[in-house]
Amino acid sequence: MILDGKKISLEIQDEIAAEVLKIKSSGKKIPHLAAILVGNDGASETYVGAKVKACEKAGFHSSLFRMPAAITENELLNKIIELNNDPNIDGFIVQLPLPSHISSQKVIETISPEKDVDGFHPVNVGRMVLNLPSYLPATPFGIIQLMKRYNIETTGKSCVVIGRSQIVGTPMSILLARNSYPGNCTVTLAHSKTKNLNEICKSSDIIIAALGKPEFLNANMVKDGAVVIDVGITRVPAQNSKSGFKLLGDVKFDEVVEKCSFITPVPGGVGPMTIASLLMNTLKANRKEIY
Ligand code: NAD
Repeated sequence: MILDGKKISLEIQDEIAAEVLKIKSSGKKIPHLAAILVGNDGASETYVGAKVKACEKAGFHSSLFRMPAAITENELLNKIIELNNDPNIDGFIVQLPLPSHISSQKVIETISPEKDVDGFHPVNVGRMVLNLPSYLPATPFGIIQLMKRYNIETTGKSCVVIGRSQIVGTPMSILLARNSYPGNCTVTLAHSKTKNLNEICKSSDIIIAALGKPEFLNANMVKDGAVVIDVGITRVPAQNSKSGFKLLGDVKFDEVVEKCSFITPVPGGVGPMTIASLLMNTLKANRKEIY
């Protein structure tokens, strides 16, 4: 079965829009998400544009602050402090990656944990590890929601997460090992130094591919009935497409789809869920559900 992230994301966004109407009619403050975009990287423009559009559709207020690529680290940190102290803004994100003269870690740590709707601040990461209420990072949170909406069984299952990045693989491994649903998996966190990855994948009930290597996971690495979540997105040239490129996931979809019980397509699987996650986190911030 195909896990339709596009459909579920729109469902969640509709539910959030209905909540916003309730907030409006009760006279309370409408959720407000802000984004800081430094420079004009094409992919970042697209991602931020999609986030702003989704906010508007859900009835949120949104603000986009554009900063030149040459902005100094201090200027950016000052802007973050300004947003931390702005009572009109419930939560905000700084779109990554940042120009190389700016420390992303410093930027992340300057964002107040209460407003860190990307869930990257060490306080939110620590709270996630301790299974305390926290903003969860968008991609793992989206995957969790997708699994929940399709009632995918996770308790007692073996799971391999391929890739240990701070934004995807590592938090994903923590969330699936937690004592909750979805969770209670026995998790292996695999990375570029992992040996016998083929055997680990072959013996796993759930495979989360998040390594950024197009079509890495093939049918020989997947056992019958496995759940396969493809996080990868790589742009590759494609002559037949209007744009001149297409997006490939980390999974050889055409052959793996024949073997597994559930699979996410690329595009239209994990990607659209991240927008829903961000809106969910902003709604939580507005309701002060976490802090
Ligand atoms: P990253 O480059 O930061 O990390 C990749 C990880 O994969 C590393 O931990 C590395 O050790 C591991 N790895 C690399 N080669 C490996 C191999 N041969 N075997 C095992 N492990 C290997 O990547 P990231 O930021 O986590 O992104 C991963 C992919 O997910 C990329 O394609 C990215 O575009 C995509 N992505 C998608 C979404 C989404 O919304 N769908 C969100 C974030 C990232």
